[in-house]
Amino acid sequence: MRSKDDLCLICNLYKSDKTNSHFIPAGLLKSNIGERNYEEAYMIGVSEQAPITDYFGRSNLKNTDPEIKQNPHAADYIFCSKCEDKLAELENEFVPYLNSLKKKFAGKQDNVLVFGDLNTLRFKVFVYSLIYRLNLQSVLKNLLTGIDFHLFNKLRLIISNKFAGLDYLVDTSINFSVFASLNNEYDYSMNFVGINTFFINPLLMVNEFHIVPYIPPFPLINSSFESAFKHYQNLDGLTNKQVSIYNVETEKWLTVHEHLVNYQAYQFRTIRIGQLMRKTKQTFEECQQKLYNLAEKIHLETSKPFGISYDVAFKKLIE
Ligand SMILES: [Zn+2]
Repeated sequence: MRSKDDLCLICNLYKSDKTNSHFIPAGLLKSNIGERNYEEAYMIGVSEQAPITDYFGRSNLKNTDPEIKQNPHAADYIFCSKCEDKLAELENEFVPYLNSLKKKFAGKQDNVLVFGDLNTLRFKVFVYSLIYRLNLQSVLKNLLTGIDFHLFNKLRLIISNKFAGLDYLVDTSINFSVFASLNNEYDYSMNFVGINTFFINPLLMVNEFHIVPYIPPFPLINSSFESAFKHYQNLDGLTNKQVSIYNVETEKWLTVHEHLVNYQAYQFRTIRIGQLMRKTKQTFEECQQKLYNLAEKIHLETSKPFGISYDVAFKKLIE
């Protein structure tokens, strides 16, 4: 557990005095779109040992626990006020852009949107901050890093140099692709946020945006998933000297999404809930809540990563 006396996880200089810091900008979470207390949030784990963490707002019917849980996408005492303010500046600049892509793509023939009017350096630092914070969430919650630890530290240093106004020390050599789904069938009622390791390079999910850091000499795609993810090799979406965002067609997006969410995370959870249902003859919701509550209890009591606690809880309940 972190306290306000710990150092900020961006600048490493000031005390992390801020509470309720978002790993993901609130403007990119779907809870802003739905009614606040009815939100559902899912954090996708990086491996089978770290399944998804779900969170239901207090008025959501799936929330049968009167105790209000903290949103997994926010945490206390991770950043200082200064860094939090700088993050807010980047978010105010780029989140409205990302949220208005559908309008910007309208009427365009090709699937790549190139922004000439954005500050490339700042946009890159913004995306670095997303990658950094998503991985930080995984490290703090599950004690697992989804990206190479050197890269993780390097991103922190880049962000911290930018925030200190040391632009000449800001290394923008880490490239990435940003893919977006602009389809109308996208499920806007849930958050799909997390790191996925289908790729040799990790894929970061921020709802309808996928970010893939491109780290030479590794190939972008793990060859066993080539058929579902082939279009992600399209390097037109690679952000280099300009800001480009690649629009993924609905059908392809759905295929990718199914792989990412259903296979790796959802299946992991439903298989276990299914086994509990057969044993206890209780409903899906009841079993889900029971499993979650026990996992959270174990997590808080033992400080074991949530994913491990979830598995311990499952074993206890199925015995
Ligand atoms: Zn700081």
